[in-house]
Amino acid sequence: MTLYLDNAATTYPKPPQVYEAVQYAMREVGASPGRGAYRMARDASELMASAREKAARLLGIPHSDQVLFTRNATESINLVLKGWLRPGDRVLISAMEHNAVVRPLERLKGMGVQADIIPCSSKGRLDLEAFGKLLALLPRLVVLTHASNVNGALQPVSQVAAMCHDLGVPLLLDAAQSAGVQPIRAGDWKLGMLACSGHKGLLGPPGVGILYIRPDLDVAPLMEGGTGSRSEDFLQPEYCPDRYESGTPNLPGIAGLAAGMDFILDTGMDTIREHELALAAFLENELEHMAGVKVYSPEERGTGSVSFTVEGLNPADVGYLLDEAYDIAVRTGLHCAPLAHRTLGSFPEGTVRVSPGYSTVMEDMHYFLQSLWSLLNRRR
Ligand code: PMP
Repeated sequence: MTLYLDNAATTYPKPPQVYEAVQYAMREVGASPGRGAYRMARDASELMASAREKAARLLGIPHSDQVLFTRNATESINLVLKGWLRPGDRVLISAMEHNAVVRPLERLKGMGVQADIIPCSSKGRLDLEAFGKLLALLPRLVVLTHASNVNGALQPVSQVAAMCHDLGVPLLLDAAQSAGVQPIRAGDWKLGMLACSGHKGLLGPPGVGILYIRPDLDVAPLMEGGTGSRSEDFLQPEYCPDRYESGTPNLPGIAGLAAGMDFILDTGMDTIREHELALAAFLENELEHMAGVKVYSPEERGTGSVSFTVEGLNPADVGYLLDEAYDIAVRTGLHCAPLAHRTLGSFPEGTVRVSPGYSTVMEDMHYFLQSLWSLLNRRR
């Protein structure tokens, strides 16, 4: 069986109850939520409502109707960038951002939005002093990746959020990597917006993301259409979640996500995080002692993602050989985050990224290290 170590891309396997919940929603519930008065439709609506409540609890979102379901973190981020920024606006992004932020912004730059990059250390930590200076220019938005998908670097989010709030600048937190692993308090931190993937640390199936928008921020929706509410009105409803959720939702995906969040709430996020961080710390330490291996360690680690390179070998070749000879799945290259690799000094080849998940065990780390060691020594 393949040893899957690419949980930063998407977690696998999911807890068994996630598969069951997807099946249940498709086979037993069936109907579309919010669009009928009959019992099946009411059951579907209840499922959605309970998923919103779980997400609100896990992410510290003050009211469950402020939990918005999207397709993924990419859609959540696009919605905010395109619905909030106008020509002439200035936006600050960190030097560790993913292409989910960089690419939509590149388009907006062509439409007159000015983007500045907040420098980070060569280990990926935001430079708070430089940030303070750029923030004083009063941008319309700050975007920050909570934990890097390349090396797991954790950002000082509560400090950044407080600095933003003091100057009345909304902060969009990209929690694609951190949600379900790191504590997030959207309301207490007074975040402007929060974007999450449902299929990574939140343990849901692909196809669902989460977005939170602070109620005082008037972000335009990306899409308008049927919401099952106020159908007599040609105008899109102004209230949440309907304002941002047009069209038939992905009920099986949302049901699966709710089951994933249940697993986290039952197991305890702290337990999951400590487990993943212990695996990563062990791996990092062992890799650092391997001749010819360079590890891209963060100052403070937020997730289990460990990135490294091997002298004289392209990361893609290391990944290929690990897969072919040892049946190990790791991610190689730029991980959709060329900006982060430039910051860490691993551009353009990128790195080999090992990302253990909640179900990875210490024996997996031993097997990985033995395999890598054999692979490197076979070549010498
Ligand atoms: N931001 C970060 C930091 C990510 O790691 C990812 C996924 N690799 C995304 C955004 C986009 O998430 P999704 O693919 O679920 O849209």
